[in-house]
Amino acid sequence: MVLVNPYAGVNRDIPNLALVYIATYLKTKVVDLNTLPSPYYRFLKYKHDSVGISVQSRTYNEALKIKNIYKKKNPEVKVYSVSGILDVQCCYPYLRLEEDIHIELDFSDDLPFPVYELFDSFFIFKNNWQQGKWQYPLMTSQGCPYSCIYCASRNRSWQLRSVDNCYEELKMAKERYSIKSFVILDDCFNIDKERVLRFCEKVQPLGLSWSCANGLRLDRFDEDIAIALKNAGCNFISFGIESVDTQILAKIKKGENLEQIEKAIDIARSYFKDINGYFIIGLPGSSFQKDIESLNWAKRRNINAFFSYYIPPDELNKGYLFYGRGARPVSDAYPHRLQKKIYILTRYMRPPSEGILNLKEIICNLKDKIYFLLER
Ligand code: SF4
Repeated sequence: MVLVNPYAGVNRDIPNLALVYIATYLKTKVVDLNTLPSPYYRFLKYKHDSVGISVQSRTYNEALKIKNIYKKKNPEVKVYSVSGILDVQCCYPYLRLEEDIHIELDFSDDLPFPVYELFDSFFIFKNNWQQGKWQYPLMTSQGCPYSCIYCASRNRSWQLRSVDNCYEELKMAKERYSIKSFVILDDCFNIDKERVLRFCEKVQPLGLSWSCANGLRLDRFDEDIAIALKNAGCNFISFGIESVDTQILAKIKKGENLEQIEKAIDIARSYFKDINGYFIIGLPGSSFQKDIESLNWAKRRNINAFFSYYIPPDELNKGYLFYGRGARPVSDAYPHRLQKKIYILTRYMRPPSEGILNLKEIICNLKDKIYFLLER
């Protein structure tokens, strides 16, 4: 069997974590079209009796396209989706096609550490990790007991790895891949304060810089955590703010109020130069004015604000994107053209991964192709 990671158009620097765990478990090669999009058709040259595609909601259409291409070319080959171990990454759920191979394993210390060498894009990851341009991804837990209505990670059991196990993975990654930094991709890293403090104490001697890219909860952020993160090498943090409108916060069941949000931002500001805040355009109960107010609040607070579109969780499997190339408004909270206006207004706050490829991206893609050919 060969595994395929479809092109998502975003997060080229973040590997498909469910897929690397599945590949490690099955000891199977991965054609990674997201980090190495070309040559696109290279998945066809793997002559196997079956193909497993990792399908995230954002790559659903791409996955079907790959399946159809494969079936047309090799009708005798079985094409499955592969799923299991992780069920959500970065708010996008993993989906199962009708024919699916599901790996029924909990996310725990019992899993082997991910073997990134199985990805055909590995040389790109390794190169960037070694140069400190990309951060090594680490999930210390999956799931979240909170109930925020917009979030695919909500109301799920919180599956944990021990702090020691996470430390061992980072130590391995430092020795094997010469990583310079790492990024925590938990659905919600700061659910348990004591665990965060123990984690910080444990990883500090590794001397790595790191960040919390997915949103921390503001009501569970305090000075002890800020100090521990800072001392352990964490140099930027992100919060899931979503909106600063009190009624919207109640409607989306965020479980936080503006006072808690502002208090946490004030604490964070004393320790961190860079603070990311995630906001959502078009949440239920929202309006153009309310979303503009969130934008102005973020500007006043000097937060790196990332605005993405609201996609109702039960619509996620239609292939919609929160942000990135191809993202568009789907919420009916207020006219789409006004939601788009906010998205465009805040474009400069997002990474340069959308619209027409710029020269740097074109050169980057060309370099990757050359590396790919040389590596074969
Ligand atoms: S706290 Fe964060 S991860 Fe948990 S449900 Fe809310 S938005 Fe999702």
